[in-house]
Amino acid sequence: MNAPIKRKRSTWIDVLLPVAIISFIGVGLFIVLFSNKNEAAPLPKSNINPSETIDLVDSKYPGIKIITETSNDSFAPYAIQYPQSIHNQFNEDVSKYINKIKSEYISNMNEYRSNGGKLSGELNISFITQFHDSGNYSFILMKYNYKGNANGKKEIGSFHLNPETGVSHTILDILDHDTGNLEKLSELVHQKIVNDATSKEYLFPALVDIYTKPLWINYKNFALTNKEIIFYFDEYQFTAGAVGSPIVAISLADINDLLADEYQYKKDEVKQAPQENKNDSEVEDVNKTTPSDDDSEVSAQNETLKVALTFDDGPHPQVTRQILAILKKYDAKATFFMLGSRVEYYPDIANEVHEAGHEIGNHSWNHPDLTKSAVEKVRNEINRTSEAIEDATGQKAATFRPPYGAFNDLVKGQTDLPFILWDVDTLDWKYKDPHKLLQMIKSSVRNESIVLMHDIHQSTADGLDAILAYLKNEGYSFVTVSELNK
Ligand code: ZN
Repeated sequence: MNAPIKRKRSTWIDVLLPVAIISFIGVGLFIVLFSNKNEAAPLPKSNINPSETIDLVDSKYPGIKIITETSNDSFAPYAIQYPQSIHNQFNEDVSKYINKIKSEYISNMNEYRSNGGKLSGELNISFITQFHDSGNYSFILMKYNYKGNANGKKEIGSFHLNPETGVSHTILDILDHDTGNLEKLSELVHQKIVNDATSKEYLFPALVDIYTKPLWINYKNFALTNKEIIFYFDEYQFTAGAVGSPIVAISLADINDLLADEYQYKKDEVKQAPQENKNDSEVEDVNKTTPSDDDSEVSAQNETLKVALTFDDGPHPQVTRQILAILKKYDAKATFFMLGSRVEYYPDIANEVHEAGHEIGNHSWNHPDLTKSAVEKVRNEINRTSEAIEDATGQKAATFRPPYGAFNDLVKGQTDLPFILWDVDTLDWKYKDPHKLLQMIKSSVRNESIVLMHDIHQSTADGLDAILAYLKNEGYSFVTVSELNK
């Protein structure tokens, strides 16, 4: 008798319970998704997936490629540079390190913004490359992170690679895995730090003792050159902020008896880092295309229309060359705002841009927000890059474009180069979509526009032919920014 009632009740539950659960989840999702609707959309949790293929012939440092990732997001901009090779383990180790910093930065900025924070942050990671005759490269990655209202913080990481073997040596290998050697080294480093007159008054002696103890981990960040081993410590680790990140260089000649055989200092055999490869012409041939023969199509009534196409953040061994080939096809001239750090890696590509008759502008060494940088750093960023450009091309940089378009009077005062911004932002770094690129151009270009693109994204090279075809058909001629300003 009770059975039908029970069955009826259970049917109600069968229907209601799932409905209730689904509604509950739905409302929950709605709350999660839309509760912040008055705030800007959260920043994407993007991971870095290097889309660049590793080309072993183009870099000044054979077997090593420099990857540059930039985001011009106005709230959480970043510029990240790191080395990659043909060796997966090395690439994964570096990418893991970079991704961790990047995702921390993005989630911190999201949290800061959801708490009402309005000030923009900055993440900048750059690196220097050192070479030792044993075939080993040292890469010192320097992170500068500025989160909204918090003080900028520097951090150092080091990676090592022998590109021939794929092996990453450590301080243990260099000191022959001998803790006795480590003890002697740590004594030397400790002495150097406490005796350094310039930083003496900023030292916290108890912390110096802790961080120079003969523990392998204290000496993990180092660079090996043919003359010295350089140890890097973090800012604030054992000094007051005024002295920055402490660096201690120990001459290899002074510690020869502590070094494993392959690192022995040989006075007479100090050589230079390997020279750039000469195989570039082979790659160039691949990109050669036939010139267009329909120049006559340009309509006479529009022949005064001009546009200055600009390409930032390169040079890039593949993308820049593809762009050069397309520009050549249309007999178009453009302007390339190069990063000094990349010119140093790819001087031949920089020179190809120059030889093809394009203008080269200075875009700083490693893309920091100069309005947040000390004056000496601003000057250094600009001057070092101008030197690298002149070394590579024999021609001085013609103009300057500040990273993120960010500058103030102080930044302007550090160079005589004309500052060049843009009026058409294609957002190619964001969409990475050739069709979108053309759409952006179609909707915004007018006479004498300066168009911002980046020659580090494959999608930009992929979309360029269509852009040039469109603009040419509209009657535009392609000039450099200096020609535009004449
Ligand atoms: Zn840039």
